[in-house]
Amino acid sequence: MTDKELFESLSYEKKNAYLAMDENELGEMKELCSDYMQFLDNGKTERECVCEAEKAARAAGFKNMNEVSKLVPGDKVYKINREKNIFMAVIGSEDILDGINIVGAHIDSPRLDLKQNPLYESTDMALLKTHYYGGLKKYQWPTLPLAIHGVIFNSKGEKINICIGEKDEDPVFVITDLLPHLAKDQMSKKMTEGIEAENMNVLIGGMPVEAKDVKEKVKFAILKLLNERYDITEKSFQSAEFEIVPAQKARNVGFDESFVGSYGHDDRVCAYTTLRGIIDIDSPKRTAAAILVDKEEIGSMGNTGAQSAFMMMAIAEMIEKTIGTCTVTQLNRVIENSACMSSDVSAAVDPNYLSVSEERNSSYAGYGVAIMKYTGARGKYDSSDANAEFVYEIGNIMDSNNVIWQTGELGKVDQGGGGTIAQYVANLNMNVIDCGVPVLSMHSPFEVVAKSDVYMAYKAYKAFYMNR
Ligand code: MN
Ligand code: MN
Repeated sequence: MTDKELFESLSYEKKNAYLAMDENELGEMKELCSDYMQFLDNGKTERECVCEAEKAARAAGFKNMNEVSKLVPGDKVYKINREKNIFMAVIGSEDILDGINIVGAHIDSPRLDLKQNPLYESTDMALLKTHYYGGLKKYQWPTLPLAIHGVIFNSKGEKINICIGEKDEDPVFVITDLLPHLAKDQMSKKMTEGIEAENMNVLIGGMPVEAKDVKEKVKFAILKLLNERYDITEKSFQSAEFEIVPAQKARNVGFDESFVGSYGHDDRVCAYTTLRGIIDIDSPKRTAAAILVDKEEIGSMGNTGAQSAFMMMAIAEMIEKTIGTCTVTQLNRVIENSACMSSDVSAAVDPNYLSVSEERNSSYAGYGVAIMKYTGARGKYDSSDANAEFVYEIGNIMDSNNVIWQTGELGKVDQGGGGTIAQYVANLNMNVIDCGVPVLSMHSPFEVVAKSDVYMAYKAYKAFYMNR
């Protein structure tokens, strides 16, 4: 053995996933990614993602767990929580008390929500007031074509789904920005202050109607139009949930189409690969489960976030329907024997901003799925920090199933940081590790991922389901 060979056998070098794939895998990757792009276009809100997931699950033979009284190995079930959460499971052949394998992703993304009293008129234009959701850079949102997605109740108390701005023939909406000619004051501000949250008002109309004794003639025209079209009034907005999202579709990026650019990769890239992972497995030894949660971008709070009891309730119901009972002790035993992949994105090293990353420990686009022992910020605050034993076990499963993976840390220490749902799953006393796709321009209206990494995430979740 030459010194060079010995050095290579002793040292670690990460691999580009594209170089590790054969023609066959490259073909599967392209197919998976074009289906993923469809998922992105159809699912721009958590409700829409749950709807897409349910459709895909039903088509693959999953039944609603509410309608099933007894579960046997091979059964495929799902359970939906308030249209914003879905739990899916494939019952394994081994004793459920020995634990289950869970993959969890989130399906909410940074966006602009409408306020409860959003509609107003100014300078003969009608606008909607917004409240941003999640950690976004406000300056990225003006002058973008925007779509409105959400639900609202009409005068008969019926819930209506609204989605405007996605079809080619639809109008879009927009937040205007100052022309450079008059932006002297704005341009000298800090980037965090250049666009103020209260100026992120969405333009929705500008055609006044003749109306005697009515001052706000554009607002009046819009209210009349909305009332005719949807049977709603201004008060209807108070209980509505509307999300303003970029109107563009997912696109291939690059001459070689090696990347996908889209709104909402965080975390729909992991949600989609998790969904496809559980759909594409059959007869696992351990029961396999997937959960798609909401509210991760605002701290996993609320009854549809990862801190909600929903997952435990769904697991308890599944145990009872599998073995006939579910005592607290039985539930505890299942949880402590279970393992979870918290499937969430990591930050890819950006060639334009190399200085924020530490090259040996950051994840790179194209180098496969990133497995992160810990996330958090500063001195690892808000991180669950997976145990060595579990990291070793997961790494082995990946290696023996030809999953190209890399480690990942969110930038240089003290540069910033972030968290995922891992800490809340870990708090239940379960082994959990973060595992997901590296993303460029994370939290922007057009995030970018490498197709090879999407494919490797899919392979990773399947390998975890079938081999742990
Ligand atoms: Mn995320
Ligand atoms: Mn995020």
